[in-house]
Amino acid sequence: MTRHRPPSVAEQLDALFASPLIHDLTAELGDLGRRTRRHPLAMHLAYGAMARIYRSANRLDAELLSGDTWQLVLERYNEGAARHPRGVEMPPTTPPLLADTYRHVRDHLTQDENLETLQLAFTTHSVALAQRIGLLVPQGGSRTRPHPRRTIYGDGTVVRPLYNRAERGRQDPEAQEHARHDGQIYGNNLVAIAVRGEAVQQRVILAVGRVQQRGHEADEAIRLIRQVHAVAGGAIQAVVYDGAFRGIQHEILMSELGLLVVNKVHAGRRDGDQRVHRQIPLGASRHVVRGRACEHSLVASNGSIHEVGLDDAGQLVLSGPLRRQQVRRYQRGGGGWRFSLGVVVPCPKGSYVTWISPHPQVGERGHGRPDQLRLLPESDPHFQRLYGLRNDSESINRGYKRTLIADRAAARGWRRQVLDLASWGILTNALAWQTTALQRQGAEQTMFRDSATKDVSKSGGRLDTLVGSSRARSSSRSDGSPTQPGPLASIIRERSLMASRRMFLND
Ligand SMILES: [Zn+2]
Repeated sequence: MTRHRPPSVAEQLDALFASPLIHDLTAELGDLGRRTRRHPLAMHLAYGAMARIYRSANRLDAELLSGDTWQLVLERYNEGAARHPRGVEMPPTTPPLLADTYRHVRDHLTQDENLETLQLAFTTHSVALAQRIGLLVPQGGSRTRPHPRRTIYGDGTVVRPLYNRAERGRQDPEAQEHARHDGQIYGNNLVAIAVRGEAVQQRVILAVGRVQQRGHEADEAIRLIRQVHAVAGGAIQAVVYDGAFRGIQHEILMSELGLLVVNKVHAGRRDGDQRVHRQIPLGASRHVVRGRACEHSLVASNGSIHEVGLDDAGQLVLSGPLRRQQVRRYQRGGGGWRFSLGVVVPCPKGSYVTWISPHPQVGERGHGRPDQLRLLPESDPHFQRLYGLRNDSESINRGYKRTLIADRAAARGWRRQVLDLASWGILTNALAWQTTALQRQGAEQTMFRDSATKDVSKSGGRLDTLVGSSRARSSSRSDGSPTQPGPLASIIRERSLMASRRMFLND
């Protein structure tokens, strides 16, 4: 993945109102808000997302109240609503939606039961959006080599509260002290699960939540992965997560959901700079050569399978990692899944493939085997392709925190913070949708150029639109960064040219 400029305010607004997500969610959640609402729920969801662009509701209100900005927002909103089969348009005389009204609806949405419904709906419609842009689709990759577009990944991040603990009366009573590798941090530990395509800005946030019990991030991550899996099912092949997952989580994801887990192995101890890995005995593997049994002793170390042998001095030594041949998955009788990993055992009498279980075995205590053995170990050439998604989960955290002022939560209490992260998710997903739409337009444009040489008459009016569109796009680049948004009204006006020829993705 290459470095790229962050999306401009114009691009974010354009994507937000063009993508179906706010209307999809509203179609499902409409009843959650009060029925007497003056603004459709979709506009409230858009407000929450716009507050992330402007980093605060107060700044956003100032924008919405200047000149005819609100009127332009209303028009753009209505354009999107009109195109959506279940979109709810606003009468042209609707007054601006401002923070006071938004906060009222927000607090209603974040009541326990409503928040749970919202989180589930967010996952349902984000998975659907991902699938519409070619992610989490049941084609491509294999058990042995999962496809990155069918691999979900996630991470937790601690968001500091709005107020310091020292400020009397103004506190976030739900913030907690969290231990991290670099010390203690006070706040709410939020978790996001995502999937992404190869292009920049092609990331879709699939689920958001909050670690309910301090030190138990893995529990929330598993809960969210189950939630995504309940919607996407077999379209998911693998999960990438960091060291918060240990043997027990690997076992849950493999045997309950049938997923490969891609992560590094916890070292047993450190020896200076060296990480020393435990060795988990896997027993003897036997093959028969010319009527005689030949035995190879195998262990798991740093995720890979090795053969144990003796060197010239009679010391035990490990072979290099045995090459993976195939990963197989079988349905268990009582439900769930059982994996088997085939590795090539080299033998002077004839190399052969042996099958190893990554699950805890009878007679083995605890989850040492799934903790230390990987279906896709770090030594495998395919590992890095998937593990690279770890970097993206870190940029999810950075990307979200960039929208916060002074690195502090945008609202008090974890429920509002989860909604706030979901609002940022709506924006991120809208961008992914829009990026793909533009890519497909680009493909169409290239096809058009090819055919133009053959049939000039067909190019007629379309060329103007294409030129107009690219002009609108390049001018948007100077609109300012997300930290310094320009005046909303002029941004929206500039974008209208592009919006006029926006093409919808085919379902
Ligand atoms: Zn042998």
